[in-house]
Amino acid sequence: MNKVGLFRSIQSKFTIIYILLLLVAVQVIGAFFTNELERELMENFESSIDDRVELLNYNLEKAFERERNEEGGSTLQEEIQNIVSDVETGDITTLEVINNQSRVLGTTNVLERDMIGKKTTRDTVQDALFFDERQDTIKFNPETKNRVRVQAVPIFDSQENVMGVIYVEASLEGVYDQMQEINDIFLQGSLLAIAVSAVVGILVARTITKPISEMRRQAQTMAKGDFSQKVKVYSKDEIGLLADTFNDLNSRLKHSYATIEEEQFKLRSVLSNMSDGVIATDNTGAVTLMNEAAGRMIGRDPDEVNGELLIDVLQLEDRVINMTELPDSGSMIIDFSDEDEFFLIRAKFSTILDEEENITGFISVISDVTEQEKAEQDRREFVSNVSHELRTPLTTMKSYIEALNDGAWEDKEIAPRFLGVAQTETDRMIRMVNDLLQLSKMDAEEYPLEKERVDFIQYFHEVIDRFELNLPEHINLKRQLPEGQFPVWMDKDKMTQVLDNVISNAIKYSPEGGTITMKAENKRHYLLVSVSDQGMGISYDKLDKIFERFYRADKARTRKLGGTGLGLAISKELVEAHHGKIWATSKEGKGTTVLFTLPLMNQKRRGA
Ligand code: ATP
Ligand code: MG
Repeated sequence: MNKVGLFRSIQSKFTIIYILLLLVAVQVIGAFFTNELERELMENFESSIDDRVELLNYNLEKAFERERNEEGGSTLQEEIQNIVSDVETGDITTLEVINNQSRVLGTTNVLERDMIGKKTTRDTVQDALFFDERQDTIKFNPETKNRVRVQAVPIFDSQENVMGVIYVEASLEGVYDQMQEINDIFLQGSLLAIAVSAVVGILVARTITKPISEMRRQAQTMAKGDFSQKVKVYSKDEIGLLADTFNDLNSRLKHSYATIEEEQFKLRSVLSNMSDGVIATDNTGAVTLMNEAAGRMIGRDPDEVNGELLIDVLQLEDRVINMTELPDSGSMIIDFSDEDEFFLIRAKFSTILDEEENITGFISVISDVTEQEKAEQDRREFVSNVSHELRTPLTTMKSYIEALNDGAWEDKEIAPRFLGVAQTETDRMIRMVNDLLQLSKMDAEEYPLEKERVDFIQYFHEVIDRFELNLPEHINLKRQLPEGQFPVWMDKDKMTQVLDNVISNAIKYSPEGGTITMKAENKRHYLLVSVSDQGMGISYDKLDKIFERFYRADKARTRKLGGTGLGLAISKELVEAHHGKIWATSKEGKGTTVLFTLPLMNQKRRGA
């Protein structure tokens, strides 16, 4: 949190300005006041001295004149000394009376009594006598460090002749002391006023800064995403309005913040519930967002991918150099298979542009197309298998028919054999086409089962009986079937097809003297049916494949035996249509067991 420096704060600025203004005002008033006071005091001082001097002047004038008219009695000097002594001195430090011959006639200063009758040397007195004019100056006495007012007032007789001079020295210190005292009071008053105004200034400034500081604090809380508090509105002034606006801003922000959060939540849940993967990047191609579906598909934790390049994440290093090529490429199939699993994804790319058409990022939507691709591959394989399977009998037939055409038909021995082959091949082709038709109907789910309640064990015995009727001599059949009733809800014809195929396979692949064991076991909820032979077996890696269409473990051999590789594929579809499972186990050279399950009808229905 940034702190405002002490002298930068509004509060101190405000207070300083306040005090400065007051200082200026005090200065101006002070200057004016001091000036006025000095003038007033000086005037009072002067007039009090002047009054006394005037009175003295009058008395002296009388004395001087009397001296001329009446002789005898007291001397002039004595009379003057008496008059002088009567003067109320006060601030007057020295008062001398001097005649027009510059001789001192009287003085108030006791120390200068010996000056009486002597000539004075004072310049001011000389000037007054010389100019017949009153002299008035202010002098500084360096000894006493006092300022004194020095006056020399001529005494005129009735004919306007100068008879003498009154010399007065009066100390100004009293006036200055008084002024000093008043100034001190004024200064104290000013200091008090400044102190009071500083306090007031601080308080007034606080009323402004307090709401501002509060708003600042509030703004900081808002920055952290907390909009729960409001600023207190102290007054209805500009700051109060600002606080109101601020609160308004707060509630609007709160609202939009909530809206944004809601939108983000929606977006997040949309992204996480999508089955397609979404990866977003910035304009450099570095991943900024990846949903869980994408994470699952590419096998990475969405959080740890952030910041990695999309090209690396999708393993496209060898196929593209630059991100900008991707959107033009339409969609891409990327192989994410590992040793265990075949896995393909399709990635589509698009660019995100801002208003000025600048690229701000890329979006890639990825989807799992493994099944789709597998189905497509199966379909292609199937078409090629069918064509291959049909071509073989057709070429055989063609060559036989050609031979017949070339004259073999006349040969009574060869012709029937050749025609027999053609018939066998035709039968095989018909069988195969029928099988294919059945499979395609089952794929399209247009192959209804007509299920009924069948006692499986009894039914199994019947099937085996039928096989025994035209069993090749070198094969033995063995039954391991439980006693009792085991009802199964099934389509008898379809189940016969399954058993026919499994048993005829076993016969087909059994060696001379081999035994085929037919078994049925009660596993509580289902029956486990198995057919085992002692043939050459199937290698482990091919065990699952024998249930695929057209798959034959040993092509050359089985074709000779007349198989098309569709029997077990049909059996598998039919067993599954009965909610069962079919699989095979085998030991190479020792024999093969084909097993399948069939759900038993529950006790209640069994009893019914
Ligand atoms: P179809 O049954 O259509 O006439 P097929 O018997 O060759 O022809 P499937 O019954 O689907 O086809 O069997 C697939 C392949 O599985 C056979 O070609 C064979 O290689 C192998 N197979 C099936 N049963 C056995 C078995 N009991 N012993 C050894 N291999 C078997
Ligand atoms: Mg078969």
